[in-house]
Parts: sequence; C-alpha cells; structure tokens
Amino acid sequence: MGAVTETAGPYATAPTLAEFNAGLGVESWAARTRCAACTSTAIDRFSRIRQIHYDRCAECGFVFANPMPTDAVLADFYNSAFYNNYRVLEEQTIAAEPYFSVSAYRDLRELATWIEADRAAAILDYGCGPGSFLALLRDEFGFANVEGLELNLHSAEVARRCYGLELAPDVGALHQQSYDVIVLFETIEHLSDPDEVVATCARLLSPCGVLFVTTPSVRNIPARRFPSHCVHYTGPSHVSLFTEQALERLLSRHGLRIRRLETDANTEVLGSYLARPFYDLDFSSPRGAGDADDRLYRPTALGRALKLQPARTPGPLLGQAAKLDTFAAKALRKLFGRAYSDHLYAMAGRA
Ligand SMILES: [Zn+2]
Repeated sequence: MGAVTETAGPYATAPTLAEFNAGLGVESWAARTRCAACTSTAIDRFSRIRQIHYDRCAECGFVFANPMPTDAVLADFYNSAFYNNYRVLEEQTIAAEPYFSVSAYRDLRELATWIEADRAAAILDYGCGPGSFLALLRDEFGFANVEGLELNLHSAEVARRCYGLELAPDVGALHQQSYDVIVLFETIEHLSDPDEVVATCARLLSPCGVLFVTTPSVRNIPARRFPSHCVHYTGPSHVSLFTEQALERLLSRHGLRIRRLETDANTEVLGSYLARPFYDLDFSSPRGAGDADDRLYRPTALGRALKLQPARTPGPLLGQAAKLDTFAAKALRKLFGRAYSDHLYAMAGRA
C-alpha cells in the first residue's frame, strides 16, 4: 500500500481538498441557470462532491459547479499551499526532465506534432503553467514566436527561472493582437466562465488560426454513475467538465469548428468506486519529489474499524478488483467501440 509520506523540504503543509472545501462558504455563491457550453436552460441536479454541488446540462452533458465559486474563492485556491505544492513538484521535476508538466495527460512531444503551422507562427499558450509546452515548441520544434499567459505567480517564476520565459499575467499584458495557434491545455475545466475565455481566444485568433484544446471528458461510466470516486471532479479546481458534444457546441457558438478530435478511452467501469465501502476519495497535493499522483484514499468509518490508513492507492485486495474492472472495460470497448472517453483533444479552426 502506498503510504502517504510526511511533507518534506520545500513542500508546504497543506489541507486535503476535502478539508480545504469544508471551509468554503458555498451558500453565498451565485447560481447559474444556463449551460455555459450550449446555453440550454435544461439543467439537472447532478451530485455533491466534497462540498461542491455539480449540475448537468440535459442537452450536451456539460457538468459544472452550481453555484459557481466566486473569483475571490478561486484566487484563494490558486494561491493556496495545496495548489502551490504542484508548482514546487513541477520545478523540482523539470531539473531532471526538462519539459515536465504535472497536468499533461499525453506526451507533450506528441501534442506538438499536431501543430502544422510554419515556424514563424505566433503561438499563445493560455493558462500555460510553468511554460513547459512553449519551451518544448521553441527548443525542439523551432517555433520562435511563443508566448504564455498564466495567472499563478509561482508558475510565472518557474517559467522565468527554468525556461527564460516572461509570461503575461492577463490578456491585457499580451504582446500581440493576434495568434496563429492558441493552446488551452488542461485549462478550460478550471474556468468559471469557459464561454468568456473561448470568446477571447476566438477574438485573438488570426483568420487561419487554430485553437488546440485538451480537457477531461465526463462521458464515461464512472464520471456519470460514481462521481464521488471520479478523479475529474476536483472543485474548486475543476468546475467546468465537458463531453465531446459540449465542447463542440461551445466552440461552434464562437465560429469554431473541430477539425481533428481524439479521445483517450476510459479504462474503468466502476473505477475506484469499488473502494467506496472502505475509503472516501480525497486529494492531497504533492508532499515530495515523485509524488505526482494526488489521489488520497481516506478510510471511512468501516475502513477505520479495519485499521486502514490514508493511502495513495487502495489496498491490494481492491487492486485485484481494479484489474477485473479494467478487464471489463476492455471487453465493453470491444463490444461497443470507444463510446466512452476519459480525455478530449480537439483542434478547431474557423467554420
Ligand atoms: Zn449544454
């Protein structure tokens, strides 16, 4: 069992996500009545996960925190010790693995091959974290005109120190009026108003420009049926969760059409819901080098009675059950195709 180690070195002591959320004043946040992806008002109550209420659009499957955290809550969260520990991990790992990004689900070099623009193209990475993808494009792919936007000041520091990149803290500070490629990697799910940011990106795109979006997908069985144990619902960080249809609807409302779409298949049927009687799923930020997987299984009352300890992975018995679950997911995929996705990769251009 992967025991949770004590905080060491530059990592700050931080509450778990459930502990952080217990202090949120959810009641005072404003409720939304419309889907930010497709504008439908057919909104269903979905689930309450670690204090955050999520609703789901009946038309496009978009899932969003409702009420939505305020800007002040989000600013607090993104400047918290919980969040900064990921940035510390990134900086430490970059020393050994130069283009490491803790949030990347696919190899960044593979994603770089999606960009077919010429080498003089102006590229903007919106929400670029420490700028790993930009540095990779510049250093290994020959794109000289790269720029990044990042709200987190710690990430901007890392970008400066590790890659010599000066990031813009907001849209007003960008150096150019228009970009040939805009990247939104693992960013859109963090936005309280994805509609506004896609509108900004559409405005900043050159006439033949492309918008490259990657984000988790909630079109799969664990995300729909067992959300309390699905790793994508990490509010207040993930507050806007997409399906293929939701992403397509949002982009099309801003004059953008998806030209290339790939998905990572979902590999589980029940996922870690198997652990539900014994553990609640929580998250704790990195506590040391190599601690990039932030899941934290916290024993339930039954788990505590069985003397289970908080751990990064549930125990060996559940490990065996998880193997069976993965096998079942593979069998379902063979029978029904790749209908259920865990992650989306979309390249869009003007319709
Ligand atoms: Zn919708």
